Amino acid sequence: MKAKELDYIEILDTTLRDGAQTYGISFSLQDKLSITQRLDELGVRYIEGGWPGSNPKDIEFFKAIKDISLKNSEIVAFGSTRKKEITPSKDSMLNTLLETEVKTIVIFGKAWDLHVTEVLHTTLDENLKMIEDSIEYLKDHGLDVIFDAEHFFDGFKGNYEYAIRVVKKAEEVGAKVIVLCDTNGGTLTSNTQSIVKGTKAELKTPIGIHCHNDSGLAVANTLMAVLSGVNHVQGTINGLGERCGNADLCQVLPTLHFKMGLRTLINDKPMSEQLKNLSALSKYVYELTNLPPNPYQPYVGKNAFAHKGGVHIDAMLKQSRAYEHIDPFLVGNRRELSISELSGRAGVMNMALKFGIKLDKQSDVVDKVLNEIKSMEAQGYHMEDANATVHLIFLKSMGYDLYPFQVQLWRVSTMKNSSKFTSGEVIVKVGDEVLHEASIGVGPVHALDQALRKALLKCFPQLKNVNLINYKVTVVDSASGTASTVRAFIEFKDDSLQWATTALSDNIIEASAMALIDGYAYRLIIDKIKNFSY
Ligand SMILES: [Zn+2]
Repeated sequence: MKAKELDYIEILDTTLRDGAQTYGISFSLQDKLSITQRLDELGVRYIEGGWPGSNPKDIEFFKAIKDISLKNSEIVAFGSTRKKEITPSKDSMLNTLLETEVKTIVIFGKAWDLHVTEVLHTTLDENLKMIEDSIEYLKDHGLDVIFDAEHFFDGFKGNYEYAIRVVKKAEEVGAKVIVLCDTNGGTLTSNTQSIVKGTKAELKTPIGIHCHNDSGLAVANTLMAVLSGVNHVQGTINGLGERCGNADLCQVLPTLHFKMGLRTLINDKPMSEQLKNLSALSKYVYELTNLPPNPYQPYVGKNAFAHKGGVHIDAMLKQSRAYEHIDPFLVGNRRELSISELSGRAGVMNMALKFGIKLDKQSDVVDKVLNEIKSMEAQGYHMEDANATVHLIFLKSMGYDLYPFQVQLWRVSTMKNSSKFTSGEVIVKVGDEVLHEASIGVGPVHALDQALRKALLKCFPQLKNVNLINYKVTVVDSASGTASTVRAFIEFKDDSLQWATTALSDNIIEASAMALIDGYAYRLIIDKIKNFSY
């Protein structure tokens, strides 16, 4: 018998647009491309890539993304309705949207009369005309339009008739989805229910929800909107977003699936399989934003399934459902019992398998790895995404010394008078050969990397295609000011492999150097151990 199809809720992820507006974060172009690929793997229907026309980086994104083929998701661009009192063809922002060559555009327009008269300084009729003209212009160019009714909930409360006229206008000119936005995040969940239901009764077009978290209700309001009839949900990974953020998809997705029986992801894998990637995706986005992960975040936080109290642990050992609302495994998280290392050992065994290493449960390697990782994490390491660093710990704990080279010395110097000059120097020993190389660079880490590459390529030409695709430095203990410990995280890629290393030091260049050296060494070690059977 065929399994019953679950009802489907369409997801639009706006981590790269609304999420990029989070105070204190800045995505590089590569960050945006990497996150896009992870969201595509997860299988959200739409990825809002940015607001071209508001900044050059977003224009670059839409150019670069054309070269990346996505399996599941569709990229959409975001923009506003045309400016007042001009024709759409003269509106540079609308024309920039056309240049992105995406098939679907998200257009936001004002649904609150207060914003129309006091912020846009125009008439209520002109605002309707701006919505009409903009949607028609994009549709005339063959595009689908999702209409974000900005401030819809405040508009509904302040001038119900006008708010409804706005969404009816968008419907009349053919918006594919009409999204009700709680832009100021001040709406109560009970009001979300009545307003969504009241609006749905007026429209035939599918409606969506976009909630901000200023009252701590973004997730609750999103879920209530789904219960009240929306079938399109917008949110961000980790709830990133302007001010207090948007609805956190790391909470919305598992709740919609595991508790409300709905399907939200579009790929060929079952939902329950895909949601196991959620905790890893959450950590990945934190790493790229340089924000510390929130350990208390529901579902994906480090403490979400950590049990400390004696009574709790005693009960948990008898029955895991005693103090857990779902199995942490379902969202790729893990149970932590503070007195027991059982979960830790199982985690190590699991990780070993990923590297093709079969370990006996009793093997002392498991303890060695576990102790090493625990002690590193206590110092401030984040191991989850640094797969190469973890693999190297395994190999070391198994007694393998496979480093194909030793860096005997490295030195960088930066001079600044009328201009700036940075040089790097390394002495590398490969077998009996000692190589001494120097290079200049745009900064100390670049100079060091250039010198190191120069030396290594002499003996290991296969490293020629290795690229550094991401480099991040995060302060671990900001209390020490400029003497703080920092964590370097570097992602590498070549034709066949992508890997990442991490290192910690109170010296920013040393942390970077260690992660760099490990990254190059790892690529060579992988070739060495290809035919190993452990
Ligand atoms: Zn928003």
